[in-house]
Amino acid sequence: MSKGEEVISEALKAEERLVSDWYVLTPEGVLHPLDRFDFEGYEKLKKFADYEVRKSRAVEQEPPHVTLMRSLELVDYEPASDPGNLRYYPKGRMVKALLEEYVTSKVHEYGGMEVETPIMYDMKHPSLAKYLHRFPARQYIVESDEDRYFLRFAACFGQFLMSHDATISYRDLPLRIYELTRYSFRREQAGELAGLRRLRAFTMPDVHALCRDLAQAKREFKRRFKLCVEVLRGIGLERDDYELGIRVTEDFYRKNRRFVNSLVRMHGKPALVEMWKERFFYFVLKYEFNFLDALDKASALSTDQIDVENGERYGIVYMDEDGRQKHPLILHCSPSGAIERDIYALLEKAYLDMKGGRPPMLPLWLSPTQVRLIPVSEAHVKAAEATARLLNRRGIRADVDDREETVPKKVRDAEREWIPYIIVMGEKEMASNLLPVRVRREGEIRDMTLESLVNEIRREVRGMPWRPLPLPLRVKERPRFVG
Ligand SMILES: [Zn+2]
Repeated sequence: MSKGEEVISEALKAEERLVSDWYVLTPEGVLHPLDRFDFEGYEKLKKFADYEVRKSRAVEQEPPHVTLMRSLELVDYEPASDPGNLRYYPKGRMVKALLEEYVTSKVHEYGGMEVETPIMYDMKHPSLAKYLHRFPARQYIVESDEDRYFLRFAACFGQFLMSHDATISYRDLPLRIYELTRYSFRREQAGELAGLRRLRAFTMPDVHALCRDLAQAKREFKRRFKLCVEVLRGIGLERDDYELGIRVTEDFYRKNRRFVNSLVRMHGKPALVEMWKERFFYFVLKYEFNFLDALDKASALSTDQIDVENGERYGIVYMDEDGRQKHPLILHCSPSGAIERDIYALLEKAYLDMKGGRPPMLPLWLSPTQVRLIPVSEAHVKAAEATARLLNRRGIRADVDDREETVPKKVRDAEREWIPYIIVMGEKEMASNLLPVRVRREGEIRDMTLESLVNEIRREVRGMPWRPLPLPLRVKERPRFVG
């Protein structure tokens, strides 16, 4: 791509001109104009509304998770790449991989068929060229000989092109296709990039559902709404951690009021509604769960849409019961949002905990080290190591701090790493059945047998994916990635 030239989609330009009416919709189904809603008790919704109406995406201040992602040696900027393309250290790779595996397993349970599609597409392909202009994002362009390709900004086209070539009957609907894209690319403006919050390359679980008609689409949409709530809960984000934003055309809302209300009822607290007089985009309804961070910035996590255009645009057809070919409606859902954003949300949430006087932590199933053993002296290293190996064999990530440091320093370092369980091992502990376990969440030491510790951890991480320790068992043998 020549310098100075940029592909800006028509949809992006339209978005800048877009006039919206804003409302708050309550679980009881009352639609309040934004300026007449009493936000008492809904301070986070108020912050979300302020952020949305202002539409300012500029980053004035570094969000707190950026310091944390580096100090925990999870993720870092990569100066040799384009901004917004990050590097993952072993611990960060493990956290990201577990999240990827978790979301994927939930989509499998839901019935998503996993596929894989290319990351770049021909700008001249007729369906794609049009779609490009219907999607509000800037693209990376790749040149190959005389041809130009854009890097995908979502998994949509790959799945649509596949669906176009498939033979589909009404019996196959809803047809659920899933891909976890590593990566999708969007050339976000440089001033809007921030740590893990807004990136140019991101990992996006993307599950589409081809639906027969609006009735089926609405049923499926509600099912996926529940899936999104469940996925976020598993990740460690509860309903209080996010706000529901609904975007809808006036026409769709008028004709489907009960359905839209039912979403807010499932959410159980008021939602922000953006209403458009006419349809600018390819969808008539969309929602997101938005996380509000320490700087009061909102970021979309889970999302779903009802797409009324692309079935036809991509020539996707199914054979209906009456023997006629018809275009399906398409739902576009990411049950978790970008995986990077989930890490961002967990880190920002931990930061807010820290500010509130609670110990910051990652969920236990995502903690790179779950148990740290600290030998009192050289003489206890072997015993500590044996205990750690035993724990690892039982599916618990345990390591040993065998460095020549004082015990208090090692405890402090383990705390700085947010390790959930810390055990100092000396003569007494080696001789006894009971271990003094520092339980981070409780801020105190509890005497536990190894067996009860194993059971406690296993109970908490049950059903979640597992990966082994991302670094050598002995802390002495680990490089330092962040200086
Ligand atoms: Zn899509």
